[in-house]
Amino acid sequence: MQRLAKKWRRAGEDIGLVPTMGYLHEGHLSLARAARKRVGKRGRVVVSIYVNPTQFAPTEDFSKYPRDLKRDLKLLRECGVDVVFTPKDAEMYPDRSAVPTGFSTYVIEENLSQRMEGASRPAHFRGVTTVVAKLFNIVRPDVAVFGQKDFQQAAIIQRMVRDLDFPVRIIVAPTVREADGLAMSSRNKYLEDDLRRQATVLRRAIDMARAAVKKSRKISAAELKANVEKIIESVPDARLDYVEFFDPETLVPVTEVSGGVQMALAVFVGKTRLIDNERL
Ligand code: AMP
Repeated sequence: MQRLAKKWRRAGEDIGLVPTMGYLHEGHLSLARAARKRVGKRGRVVVSIYVNPTQFAPTEDFSKYPRDLKRDLKLLRECGVDVVFTPKDAEMYPDRSAVPTGFSTYVIEENLSQRMEGASRPAHFRGVTTVVAKLFNIVRPDVAVFGQKDFQQAAIIQRMVRDLDFPVRIIVAPTVREADGLAMSSRNKYLEDDLRRQATVLRRAIDMARAAVKKSRKISAAELKANVEKIIESVPDARLDYVEFFDPETLVPVTEVSGGVQMALAVFVGKTRLIDNERL
């Protein structure tokens, strides 16, 4: 991949990268199209598919995470992607657990990654920033596209790029949703019929907050949080992990919510943990 990227760069072809964990849906494909738009017909679009073990806690769904490479390759071929990069664990993390000879260097963002996903999943963002830094060094992209669906992740990657001078432009593309408002996610596969219906509660919580802000212009975050909790609790198999209202640039929580404030929430529906967010 590095050799290929070097060749492309020498030929003056721009490279766009879309990092994914596979089991692709329309959200991923919209990122690949955004990458194509940025690099043009003569540019190169690389989609990486790698279920990154270092961003999963031992208790999480790493081994169960849905995988279907054959289907993914078909979708990406139809989408006009040039290369699908599918590294193996042994290549990405040589001898990960071997001391002292194994993999031992990580990239850690220390500020934006403290709250929300970072609080609920302690080693998660360390794994994300490390693997994305590696992918940037392997693919050497001019642009890389991430989804707004993972708002905090996109903010952390932008910070990492700025702080560590990665020569790449980050594009954040809008969240693609199912017809009933559920944000597309590979993990939606875990939701059987009834749970799938219950999963629309995230969207309903966001809509409630939007309506409340539209109506009162300014409303206390504590009151909105209580209302979100009520909505989530009214759904039998849903359990709120967190809901936050914060400044979209700094991710610092606000006490008064008004237009332009970002809302993010994580909800367990059955055993499946779903996240969503939106600018109010
Ligand atoms: P994942 O495969 O879940 O790691 O996601 C790979 C990339 O796709 C990340 O940048 C995600 O934010 C993005 N993504 C995931 N779901 C969506 C969606 N519904 N709409 C837009 N982008 C998404």
